[in-house]
Amino acid sequence: MDILKECILREGKSLPGGLLKVDSFLNHQLNPRLMKAVAEEFAQRFADTSFNKVLTIEASGIAPALMVGVLLDLPVVFIKKKKPHTMEQAFTTQVFSFTKQQTSDLSLSREFLSAADRVLFIDDFLACGNAALAVLSLIEQAGASLVGMGFVIEKAFQHGSQQLRERGIRVESLAIIESLENCQIHLRP
Ligand code: 5GP
Repeated sequence: MDILKECILREGKSLPGGLLKVDSFLNHQLNPRLMKAVAEEFAQRFADTSFNKVLTIEASGIAPALMVGVLLDLPVVFIKKKKPHTMEQAFTTQVFSFTKQQTSDLSLSREFLSAADRVLFIDDFLACGNAALAVLSLIEQAGASLVGMGFVIEKAFQHGSQQLRERGIRVESLAIIESLENCQIHLRP
């Protein structure tokens, strides 16, 4: 994932509070070539398991998840941060957002996840693991099986992967940030 590491080091900005701004290729403007490479890497890492659906959360998980869906010809479902009036039967939970410092509701229509599904969850960032654990709750409510979770960027110093691995979840992160101290980006080699 050299292309990803290069983008992070060249274009990423380390902000106070342990935040990494990657608006130029992942969170606002999107780099399609990078997203394609990211999807190929996820497909390769999870090639030893079978799944029939890719799950993500709006908004920034959609681009990498959709690329995986295109590559593997699988449906992609994104969890909504606000329940639309048109959604009648939903699995719901709450999540505390590290970046926004607020709690929000997550909704997933019962139409699109069931006990018959084996899902791969894809997201842009893994920090403390709150979003991923909320997703796990929705998957459990549906009775679906989770085959693993893939993150484009993991911030190891916030210990989300530890939380997930302790629950027996397979975690694959394509770039791992060891520290953002002194506004410097330190990537795991
Ligand atoms: P967690 O729930 O693991 O603490 O945080 C995951 C979510 O918070 C991600 O889906 C992402 O949207 C957001 N997030 C966490 N840390 C960062 C960061 O350093 N930069 C950006 N852009 N988003 C982050």
